[in-house]
Amino acid sequence: MKNSTLPRKYSSPKVKSSIVKHYYENWVYDESLKKYMFRTKITPKRFVDIGEPACFRCGYYPQRFIKHDYIEGKTKGSPYLVWNKADFLERCHIIPSGLGGGGESDNIVLLCHRCHSENPNTKSVKHYQRWMDRGKSDYEIGVDQINQLLEDYGYGVSEDLANVFLKVLSGVGIKSKKKKDAIKRKFKKFQMENVIMCGAHKEANMNSFVVSLIQFCEKEGLLTKEHQADQAQIKE
Ligand SMILES: [Zn+2]
Repeated sequence: MKNSTLPRKYSSPKVKSSIVKHYYENWVYDESLKKYMFRTKITPKRFVDIGEPACFRCGYYPQRFIKHDYIEGKTKGSPYLVWNKADFLERCHIIPSGLGGGGESDNIVLLCHRCHSENPNTKSVKHYQRWMDRGKSDYEIGVDQINQLLEDYGYGVSEDLANVFLKVLSGVGIKSKKKKDAIKRKFKKFQMENVIMCGAHKEANMNSFVVSLIQFCEKEGLLTKEHQADQAQIKE
């Protein structure tokens, strides 16, 4: 593979690029099964690309990483090195050191903070693999969270409501490109004025995001009484 040699300082399992290189080198075609298989201790559930760092289990990566950082081709040298910039990924032991697990790459997966905090600390590789395989994707977790929050704010989950939100967020159902851009811009402005955007990257947390979306749709007259779970009056 071109450009796959890592400088010595990146060849330790303490370094993310080196761990990813280990997984890539052990992802091989199995002639008898006619498919690609990982020869590693654990098979990552979601393993996207050398140049696209993401959680091995849920596939999470932050938007800011795409916007500001270094997708494949932008990192000089080995394409694995981009993983070292992925500060949202944590090195996680499969078998914990307290139970005799080693520090070698084969005993380590790269997980987001949420998956790392939930991972089973067990000697059983079989059960670790089951936990890995059954993990929901970051997108599915996000949808579940939004649905739960909608209920918390008195709205029932429905296809019609989803379409209202998609109209605001992506311009779905609006023909003119100009009008599509206008509604997205208007929502962004409303969000900046009505909820706190946190952190260095100015992102609304999930609760603030949902609340601002509902408020905006109410203000624009996009929501009807039928969208509400409890059919209560909207009072502001
Ligand atoms: Zn994750």
